[in-house]
Amino acid sequence: MATFKAIRIDKSEAGYQAAFADFDDADLMNGDVTVRVTHSTVNYKDGLAVTGKSPVVRRFPMIPGIDFAGIVEASTHPAWKVGDEVILNGWGLGETHLGGYAQKARVKGDWLVPLPQGLTCAQAMAIGTAGYTAMLSVLALELHGLSPAMGPAIVTGAAGGVGSIAVALLAKAGWRVIASTGRPQEADWLKSLGAAEVLDRSELSAPGRPLGKERWAAGVDSVGSHTLANVLAQTSYGGAVAACGLAQGMDLPATVAPFILRGVSLLGIDSVMCPKPRRMAAWARLASDLDADKLASLTTNVPFDAALDTARSILEGKIRGRVVVEIG
Ligand code: NDP
Repeated sequence: MATFKAIRIDKSEAGYQAAFADFDDADLMNGDVTVRVTHSTVNYKDGLAVTGKSPVVRRFPMIPGIDFAGIVEASTHPAWKVGDEVILNGWGLGETHLGGYAQKARVKGDWLVPLPQGLTCAQAMAIGTAGYTAMLSVLALELHGLSPAMGPAIVTGAAGGVGSIAVALLAKAGWRVIASTGRPQEADWLKSLGAAEVLDRSELSAPGRPLGKERWAAGVDSVGSHTLANVLAQTSYGGAVAACGLAQGMDLPATVAPFILRGVSLLGIDSVMCPKPRRMAAWARLASDLDADKLASLTTNVPFDAALDTARSILEGKIRGRVVVEIG
């Protein structure tokens, strides 16, 4: 295949444009592994990239798509051979390096992670960057020494990609999970994933007090802004919150009160530059802990042709759970 299909983002005087285009192998960037992409996904950041609402893309033209799964087609990297099934999350994919919304990708072999045993490429992308970030968040809470015996865990943005997988993972690890959502119609589904309680997100999204009643010991927050400030203010003594997202906003209008009066910790989660050993640990745990039926219940599959429209609609908070883009 000399040419292949991809989504191409251009920025010119005519504006910011994302559309399907034919690419040639020669257009691919430097890398020691070429992968036939079988699946990608729609993450919140992909929505920001294809609409240009945030400066996610830092090279033009760009192929968006911050993650993919696929099969090695050519390799000069010692770790990879033709036919290996691989995953890639982050490392600038879809931002500074041509990304996953393409039938082919050429990348650095050091960025790749082997498809964990027990997962298919489609399942790995149902998890995708959102689910892998949820896992990094849970691992961070555990590394901090928190356990379900200390009290409940809250998940914000629970009906979204990061949130829904965080609900399932925390429940599996034994936590009593409080799922905060603006979609009450998804309450039964969130309970089927493992939530013990569903909270209306409006309880957390407006400006609140510096400290409130201690309601949870741990949190996974994909929302930021007032929501994160309120989650911190209601975290119990010695608890911690993993902050991984900004769906409400990038600001954090909080006080230091939870930190200095309750010893609460704020744990930062970055999936893009996360070192490889932690990535491998996260993927191994996802393969062992995430129930396949729950994963299926939170996944929608769309054809490659629908990727652009789906990426646009994720910014409106309309996507439930995760979306897999079938590329191959
Ligand atoms: P989704 O759109 O799938 O989920 C976000 C959820 O946040 C929505 O489903 C909604 O949940 C909630 N939400 C949306 N808008 C608002 C609002 N204005 N106020 C309060 N809640 C809101 O996105 P993802 O799960 O893919 O990503 C979530 C966040 O995590 C994004 O900000 C993304 O950039 C970030 N992220 C960060 C990573 C990292 O490396 N740190 C990696 C991956 C994602 P509900 O309907 O239940 O209320």
